[in-house]
Amino acid sequence: MKKIFVFLFIFSFCKSIFSQQHSQFFDFQEYKFEKNIEFSQNEYLIFKKNVQKNIEILAKKDVFKNFFTKTSVKFRLPLREKSGIQNYGFYSISAYFDHDTLYPNSLKDFNCQQFTYDTQDGYNHAGTDFFTFPFPWNKMENDEVEVIAAANGIIVYKQDGNRDKNCEAGIDIPFWNVIVLQHSDGTLTYYGHLKKNSVTQNNVGEMVSAGDYLGVVGSSGSSSTPHLHFEVNNEKNEPIDPFSGECGDSVSLWETQKPYVDAGINQITTNFAYINFQECPNSDILNLRDTFSLSDTIFFSIFFRNISLNDTVSIKMISPSQTLWDSWVWNCPYPFFAGSYLQFWAKLFSSDVGGNWKIEANYKGKTYEKAFFVQKSSEISQNLPQNIEIGPNPASEILTVKNVEAKNLRVKLISLQGICVFERYFSEKNIEISLKNFARGIYFLQICSEKDFQNYKIFVK
Ligand SMILES: [Zn+2]
Repeated sequence: MKKIFVFLFIFSFCKSIFSQQHSQFFDFQEYKFEKNIEFSQNEYLIFKKNVQKNIEILAKKDVFKNFFTKTSVKFRLPLREKSGIQNYGFYSISAYFDHDTLYPNSLKDFNCQQFTYDTQDGYNHAGTDFFTFPFPWNKMENDEVEVIAAANGIIVYKQDGNRDKNCEAGIDIPFWNVIVLQHSDGTLTYYGHLKKNSVTQNNVGEMVSAGDYLGVVGSSGSSSTPHLHFEVNNEKNEPIDPFSGECGDSVSLWETQKPYVDAGINQITTNFAYINFQECPNSDILNLRDTFSLSDTIFFSIFFRNISLNDTVSIKMISPSQTLWDSWVWNCPYPFFAGSYLQFWAKLFSSDVGGNWKIEANYKGKTYEKAFFVQKSSEISQNLPQNIEIGPNPASEILTVKNVEAKNLRVKLISLQGICVFERYFSEKNIEISLKNFARGIYFLQICSEKDFQNYKIFVK
């Protein structure tokens, strides 16, 4: 996964650009999901042969007795968030089934677009790739997105134990973790790239119901970002596309087929600094925060699924008294992105009130919101140590933070650009930070508990 730096977009709002108190810098980027080459054609055919072998063995054991019917099976979305987590959205699609059998670079998805891939040696993408978004690696680490059975079926193939942080595509990569289900109308569904050691305890030959847990979205096999390769095969073991459309089949295999452009906001976050996106296989540094003080800069991130040219998002910041603090409008100048994000920041006035604030984004007729809490400076810091000593300031080589008693506190160093350049939990009373690799300039040192934090301005010379 590489975050390709598409552009920096500066909106010059007359009142904000010249005001130090209150400004917004809009940074919009594509969240670039590199199309993974998941198989060579040869690897794909070997895998399918292995599945067929298993099916023959199971058939001999009479596992499919009275199982098959003529009623066609419909599929539900094979993903869900784990219980207790509820974002507006948590995935987008990076590649569909390739209906064009020529190769390479001869592509046609069910909607006659080229949102798919093929390879030099003749593999035409045979499934649908659902990538988790935003923060795919964090989601994988925390088992946040589960793969579930798209319909009732019998497990006919199961593989686990392969590592899931390969970060590249090609040969000599350990194979993926996968489940294959046999359905009663003869179709098969494949669920590939599952997280290592997350695959269901149910055994080959056992029946699962639609919605049953199969594993966690991972990145095993040839994959550079956690995603699910969901593939449907017909009774002849040939891959078919569950989506219907002008360049695909006339009948959809989905219970409810999502629109090709399924635009929406997956998530809005409030942060104490811009999110620090990482390369594969590292989790992003989220810098999340819900509670701020009046003197803080508040950073906002909005994650879009399927944004298209000229799409408009209206953003409002609303104070505790429900009055409009400020509003902005952003238009998308790009044709289409599966995933993208907009980041900006705001600084409150000292005359603003504490309490429950919110940021609201209206996109495609739907309103998405994220609440955050602002404390008056006198209200904060009660559970933070009062006698902390930080020095020297300015500092050149070593910065020492002294007299921190509580062990659940962290120290962070944030650059003026909002990047977190240092973070560590206090394991003892004092921490020494080596400044050797830091650029000269102003930094904010934060002492953070679970709910509060204190800011100190530090100059590195
Ligand atoms: Zn795929």
